Amino acid sequence: MQYYSNVNKQNVVSFRDAVLSGLAGDGGLFLPVQIPKLEPKFFADLKSYSFREIAFNVSKKFVENEIDDANLQHIIEKAITFPAPLEQIDDHIFVLELFHGPTLAFKDFGARFMARVMEHFVKNNSQELNILVATSGDTGSAVASGFLGVNGIKVYVLYPSKKISEIQEKQITTLDQNIIAIEVEGTFDDCQEMVKSAFVDKELTGKKNLSSANSINIARLIPQSFYYIEAYKQLNENKDEPVISVPSGNLGNLTAGLFAKEMGLPVHKFIAATNSNDVFTEYVGTGKFSPRPSVKTYSNAMDVGNPSNIARINELYKHNIDLIRSVIFSRSFSDSETLAAIKNVFNSCNYLFDPHGAVGYLALEEYYESTKDKKRCGIVLETAHPGKFNDVVEKAIGKKVELPDSLKSIMHKEKKSIAIKNNYTELKEFILNAG
Ligand SMILES: *Cc1c(COP(=O)(O)O)cnc(C)c1O
Repeated sequence: MQYYSNVNKQNVVSFRDAVLSGLAGDGGLFLPVQIPKLEPKFFADLKSYSFREIAFNVSKKFVENEIDDANLQHIIEKAITFPAPLEQIDDHIFVLELFHGPTLAFKDFGARFMARVMEHFVKNNSQELNILVATSGDTGSAVASGFLGVNGIKVYVLYPSKKISEIQEKQITTLDQNIIAIEVEGTFDDCQEMVKSAFVDKELTGKKNLSSANSINIARLIPQSFYYIEAYKQLNENKDEPVISVPSGNLGNLTAGLFAKEMGLPVHKFIAATNSNDVFTEYVGTGKFSPRPSVKTYSNAMDVGNPSNIARINELYKHNIDLIRSVIFSRSFSDSETLAAIKNVFNSCNYLFDPHGAVGYLALEEYYESTKDKKRCGIVLETAHPGKFNDVVEKAIGKKVELPDSLKSIMHKEKKSIAIKNNYTELKEFILNAG
């Protein structure tokens, strides 16, 4: 499969090059030159496939002959190590739980797959690959955990000191091995600036093999389409096409769902659920795209004011807003609505949503209300474990949730970080001198 850049369609590269470069040289995002199709027989026999077998069949279409079957199977075994269970919470409402990975959010799927694909592609390189990533919290922990113990790759995670949650900091700073946490005396933007400076520093890039692991890497999107198909498999007797509600920020998760649909997955409609950062909801409503600075909300992983994957969605549907509307319904919700939804669903269905999943649930309810399509089965993607957002959960239901044991145990581990000033030279010296 070849991949083109949305900025210049003539810029076509292999899967390997798309993964290792992340962003196209012209600044664009990579898309497959055509979305591959899965055979109708595959969907007819879906019940007989395990989650990993689904993952194998889907990824094979995107990778084609660039990774042989045995290696692809190995990549999937290393990456897909936890399930994506579908829980029924109401008559025809289901929740797809995507938080059973090591950092308790769906980003584990993308980060772990990307890490193993990169490991495969650099296997025969003599020089180590250095991944630089700046994080405001969740992405960094998923990437760090995904690359832990991956051969031939070292990861530097830059995070703003005292500006991420304690859980997030522990998830980044207690890993050891090939993961180095750099604690920057500055903001997230400062961290990002330093990473950018590193990539354009000829002396550094001449001596060290650098790469990024940002969220727009195509290898992070592909594995996110696996679980849409896994969800459909678990629907059992509910044979009608579902509506699927996706709590959205940078729109990567939604884009992966659209890939699955274009591959042949029966989906009646996708719902893009947003918080007060409603640039995309506005786009679907009015056809106007007006990016603006993000505002802080309870569902903070969706606080995105200029979602980059809108470029991929526009490409998929030929920049035709009516076509986009025929596939995607979108609504946005405030923090107070989010709190009320967490409480209501907890009381009426005995199911506890995190703030992101709660926004997804609200948008599904709104879909039922405004379309009168009330009997159709709906799936809400629960993108994180509620325990990661205990302060919000406590506001909503008056108590906290227990953290899973895996998280409890890291809270006792010792933090190890390299503290640096907001000064690029300090970062550069450190990387140059690192073994
Ligand atoms: C990143 C994230 C989202 C938003 O996903 P996008 O792919 O950026 O739209 C939603 N919920 C959680 C918990 C996340 O970490």
